[in-house]
Amino acid sequence: EYKNKTGWKLEHSYAELPSLFHTTFKVNEVPSPRLVILNEKLAVSLGLDINALKEEEGVAVLAGNKVPEGGSPLAQAYAGHQFGNFTMLGDGRALLYGEQITPDGKRVDIQLKGSGKTKYSRGGDGRAALGPMLREFIISEAMHGLGIETTRSLAVTTTGERVLREGVLTGSVMTRTASSHIRVGTFEYAARWGTKEELQALADYTIERHYPELNDTGDKYLSFLQKVIKRQAALIAKWQLAGFIHGVMNTDNMSISGETIDYGPCAFMDSYDPKTVFSSIDMQGRYSYQNQPAAGGWNLARFAEALLPLLDDDQKKAVETAQEEISRYIVLFQQEWMNGMRAKLGLSNEETEDEKLAQELLELMQVHHADFTNTFRALTLEQFEGMELFTAPTFKEWHQRWQERLDRQEDSKESVQQRMKTNNPAVIPRNHRVEEALTAAEKQGDYSVMGKLLHVLSDPYVYSEAQEAYKEPGKEDSQPYRTYC
Ligand code: AMP
Ligand code: MG
Ligand code: MG
Repeated sequence: EYKNKTGWKLEHSYAELPSLFHTTFKVNEVPSPRLVILNEKLAVSLGLDINALKEEEGVAVLAGNKVPEGGSPLAQAYAGHQFGNFTMLGDGRALLYGEQITPDGKRVDIQLKGSGKTKYSRGGDGRAALGPMLREFIISEAMHGLGIETTRSLAVTTTGERVLREGVLTGSVMTRTASSHIRVGTFEYAARWGTKEELQALADYTIERHYPELNDTGDKYLSFLQKVIKRQAALIAKWQLAGFIHGVMNTDNMSISGETIDYGPCAFMDSYDPKTVFSSIDMQGRYSYQNQPAAGGWNLARFAEALLPLLDDDQKKAVETAQEEISRYIVLFQQEWMNGMRAKLGLSNEETEDEKLAQELLELMQVHHADFTNTFRALTLEQFEGMELFTAPTFKEWHQRWQERLDRQEDSKESVQQRMKTNNPAVIPRNHRVEEALTAAEKQGDYSVMGKLLHVLSDPYVYSEAQEAYKEPGKEDSQPYRTYC
């Protein structure tokens, strides 16, 4: 139909939740919207027409100047623990157009970020700067390429406005997709300010949307808690195995669907050091690499607390049940991590000493400041050059033991290498490469550097020629790499 040639097919199931959870939003016009990058593959998978999105009307929609046909903007309410402190939050600079029903029947949130103030903005200006939006585009696409569940970026526009941050920056609006934006913080909000009926409405809605198989189970809310714990254990294990550091694992930044959400000061680790932190605001290292699994458990405990009224009428029993489930999280995480680590090492069966083998490698990597990604890349390709680690006699001993371990399983050398290639990325978004792409885009309006980077990151497991040039970590600066929200 001509009226909606873009292909918007928006529904509003979230808006049917009690009004406690959302506020209708008026769009906030920007002076001169311009599309700077469009995720064409994602657009197609959403059933959207690429050419229509690039036209004036399409761009107006992506910048927040025009509501798409069938759209009905709202801001979502949520709370959260930020660095341990409970506070009211909500979409302070985002709006939800609705849920796009994709050609294969999926329901995907279409959200603008940087689209202006809302009722929940507190002191903020509701705006976003171009650099951080492009950064989220790159990192979330890299995560998607790595096979790590994540929200994605459909498009980034500039607005023609300036925004004030560390300096005067280019204003920008990003369109983000997610299987939903329901967070641990949404449940904390319901538990704190809602009635039991409202909390239950949120839980029922979330189960229907993300865990519909639980509808028929007796202990529906307990099963829900278990499933969310399981998905987070699996997700955070994937982060650890890829060397990804989220940076702000506040409870408002933990999605109930199990997707990675809210890319602020995140980055991938170069040389292996469990204490690595990139975020400029994380002084205590609360969300350092080594603390991520425990931070996930802490957040899940807040989620379990929010669910208590639904777990049992007897609240004492509910607490015991919740504690029991939370205590299983770290075991689940450890299992997921170990399975992933076995795959990274090419192992197809289990031996009790495997964990020790993996830990010894990590210790050697730490001692020799070995690059995380490139160590596993070298093990995969059997190319041991260019790193201090590989000349160490202790590494040679470890390598010997690893080879003996591989010999104790049935698989051919080829199948071991194949397994390793599909579990060890040849390339990650290196900080200096990300910065290079952002600089070219922001300073010169040149998006080709970012385009090339996105291309090599789209399939990090192919081990292509083009990826070779992207494998080097940046020079170790005197100043550690710092990222900003
Ligand atoms: P985050 O640290 O990204 O998880 O954001 C925490 C809270 O701050 C959320 O409620 C955001 O909506 C809000 N926020 C972040 N930046 C801005 C901004 N520029 N204007 C208004 N609210 C903001
Ligand atoms: Mg957030
Ligand atoms: Mg953020």
